[in-house]
Amino acid sequence: MLNPLATTALMTALDEHRVITDHSTREIYSHDETPKYCLPLAVVFPRSHDEVVAIMRIAIEYGIVLIARGAGSGNVGGALPSPQSIVVSFECMNQILEYHPEDRYIVVQTGVITAEIDRIAREHGLFYPPDPGSAAYSRIGGNLAMNAAGPRAVKYGVTRDYVMGLRAVTGAGNSINSGCRTSKGVMGYDLTRLLVGSEGTLALITEATLKLLPLPEARATLRVCYASNADACRAVSRVMNQAVIPCALEFMDRFSIQAIQAAGSATDLPAGTQALLMVEADGVASDLPRQIDALQTALAGTGLLDLQVATDKAAIAALWIARKALSHAVKNIAPLKINEDVVVPVSRLAELVIHIEYLAQSYDLPIVSFGHAGNGNLHVNIMVDPIDTNQMQRAKHALHALFSEVLALGGTLTGEHGVGSEKRPYVTMEIDADSLALMRLIKQQFDPHQLLNPDKLLPAQI
Ligand SMILES: Cc1cc2nc3c(=O)[nH]c(=O)nc-3n(C[C@H](O)[C@H](O)[C@H](O)COP(=O)(O)OP(=O)(O)OC[C@H]3O[C@@H](n4cnc5c(N)ncnc54)[C@H](O)[C@@H]3O)c2cc1C
Repeated sequence: MLNPLATTALMTALDEHRVITDHSTREIYSHDETPKYCLPLAVVFPRSHDEVVAIMRIAIEYGIVLIARGAGSGNVGGALPSPQSIVVSFECMNQILEYHPEDRYIVVQTGVITAEIDRIAREHGLFYPPDPGSAAYSRIGGNLAMNAAGPRAVKYGVTRDYVMGLRAVTGAGNSINSGCRTSKGVMGYDLTRLLVGSEGTLALITEATLKLLPLPEARATLRVCYASNADACRAVSRVMNQAVIPCALEFMDRFSIQAIQAAGSATDLPAGTQALLMVEADGVASDLPRQIDALQTALAGTGLLDLQVATDKAAIAALWIARKALSHAVKNIAPLKINEDVVVPVSRLAELVIHIEYLAQSYDLPIVSFGHAGNGNLHVNIMVDPIDTNQMQRAKHALHALFSEVLALGGTLTGEHGVGSEKRPYVTMEIDADSLALMRLIKQQFDPHQLLNPDKLLPAQI
């Protein structure tokens, strides 16, 4: 139970309707997209930066752990409550504070839904490029904390590339401001880049100044079928090795195709299709034919079975339906997906997919791979039944073997989902001891009482 004095202090700082301790509300905030669960002591709903400062100071006074939460759509346990913690939900901090289309930036509270920022930008011929698959419901604070990305990252970059500045509350209860509102600025250490991707472990981010770009005039989508995963990945490497950078380059393997076809999508693929690429180009309308030509040339090669081009809005949307249905369609293959998010240099992608096929065979596991191939970023889903202990053991070994291969190919273990609680045991496979020690010192400076998401990101100390 939450200390009654802390409850009173919180109710005084916010108001009693925004400090919730009833069991059914706490249940709603007890998990994210991972299958894990932990009931928090309370959920609080600040409306302003100053209220977040007050919450942090009360947490320090009573020694209570705080778990920042956006929409809880993260899939590595980042927003999973710790035992005896309070969830700080940012959903009432949903105000657009300033919008400057003439200088192409917007200032928002961090509970704003990601897609809402893009919608507002489009009213003035601008757009907000980061487009995680969860943009319709995830909140920008969650995107900032995880450095979220999506299909457009291959051309436009990730969340971090669009953050000009932040306002935040550290674990010491101090307010900090980082960055500036100009397109250049080099004053002081870059706290903005440090906070983006910090997974709620250094500070509670309350406000963000985000860069917007001019909306491209036109788009074209290509759907390309191949006879094997390796053929498709070699085509990805060719595409990324020529001058026209696509604004999306997505890969789906045979199991992904089977999953979406079982859900009623992409039923018109030619026989023998084992892998699919979705490629998109955007820009000035008069330049699109040139871009499509260049992409078609790069995509042609061994194993190409079919290539379709869509240039009008409805046809483009129809081609993308299959990719958008995928995350949920995959869930029908087995009760649990161990959802990994590895990245390798694009030129090594074919080697990675061949190795994944080998792991699936050797460990006798269905492994479904799809994702942002243009960045070399694959979502590798090991499909398991958690009550089958033998299968779970095989999955654990397969995972370790996958991670070893990714690092051997010059890659990284997470491209966009982050570490959270799920990948903590693997951090030391990638980060050396001295770098990790420095990260622990940074954590100590920002969060001296170890109250901000303490069981996440950095590995447990033995
Ligand atoms: C169907 C589906 C598709 C997805 N597609 C993508 C994708 O394409 N790309 C991608 O990158 N991710 C994707 N994700 C993962 C997830 O949506 C992202 O990680 C997203 O950024 C999480 O946002 P959220 O608001 O749900 O954050 P939450 O899950 O609530 O929190 C995520 C982390 O951020 C911290 N946090 C939240 N708000 C704050 C704050 N204000 N200050 C400090 N820390 C904070 C939390 O403590 C936690 O560590 C997908 C998830 C699903 C379910």
